[in-house]
Amino acid sequence: MEDVQSQIAAFDHPDVEAVAIIRGRVLHALQTFLLDRDFRQLLPILMSPITDPLNHAVYPAEIQYQQRRLKLTASMIFHKQLALTARGHERIFIVAPNIRLEKPEIKDSQRHLLEFSQFDFEIRGGTMQQAMQLIEQMVKHTLDEVREHCAAQLAQLGRELPRYETAFPVYSTNELQAELGDDFERLMSEKAHTPFFITNHRREFYDRETPGQRGHYNNYDLIWPEGYGEALSGAEREYEHGQILYRMNELDMDLTPFGNFLEVARQGLLHPSAGGGLGIERLLRFICGKRHIRDVALFDRSVGSDFLF
Ligand code: AMP
Ligand code: MG
Repeated sequence: MEDVQSQIAAFDHPDVEAVAIIRGRVLHALQTFLLDRDFRQLLPILMSPITDPLNHAVYPAEIQYQQRRLKLTASMIFHKQLALTARGHERIFIVAPNIRLEKPEIKDSQRHLLEFSQFDFEIRGGTMQQAMQLIEQMVKHTLDEVREHCAAQLAQLGRELPRYETAFPVYSTNELQAELGDDFERLMSEKAHTPFFITNHRREFYDRETPGQRGHYNNYDLIWPEGYGEALSGAEREYEHGQILYRMNELDMDLTPFGNFLEVARQGLLHPSAGGGLGIERLLRFICGKRHIRDVALFDRSVGSDFLF
């Protein structure tokens, strides 16, 4: 009972209100930014025969409905690619909840939640250069909006939100790894004073391999400065049947669940596209200057948490 009491008492902290006001402003800024650029907003899908296989192992999150096993959404990647085939859906976005039952190895992580939300977008015919430019403008716009409308809340949180006048630098994994070793992302984030991009990551099959360059990828992450780490992952996408099969086989994936998706690809119906997903709680954590991600959500879903509600 005491736990329950202290949980409800924690709700009364003035930072809780400041974060809530900033959260609303951030979501408003992100959504209007894309709506003003003719994007269509989709509502999230929560269960499907397929979801993002991810680049790391998590416990399966599945439910049974009658005779079917359905996976809870780890990301909307395939539904974004399929949605782009719909009439009038050349540019889409979703405020999308994701479930990822992370392994206890990362229970001390200050930036992982078991459920979180992505601001997830995709552009039919988009290129990585276009997507990176859009991401940079969207992030700068969102920070400007927070600075303009939430000065009192930033003051309450003791956060001085920097203004970034210059372009976000772009590095590749190869150059950073050669310079800093395997821990390059953390080291770069710690010493950076502006957000920056890192391109060319070897990961899920759906990120497009650079045509004619095996083992090189047209993908990009945005990284927060001040040690806040990864903000967004995005890429151009694989859309050709033969190449998708090649990439899935390279990763020894079980193709069975992907039958219908592969059939769409086999019929040549997938479009080339580029997009990305910005972690909303990670963005709030950075804006609010909170080191622990649980401090930007009312209901703690951090990996090590024994949450009550
Ligand atoms: P991913 O495509 O897996 O990189 O996910 C997209 C973005 O969502 C990442 O860049 C992070 O900002 C955010 N994200 C991923 N996993 C988590 C998690 N477990 N908890 C909170 N945010 C996450
Ligand atoms: Mg990522």
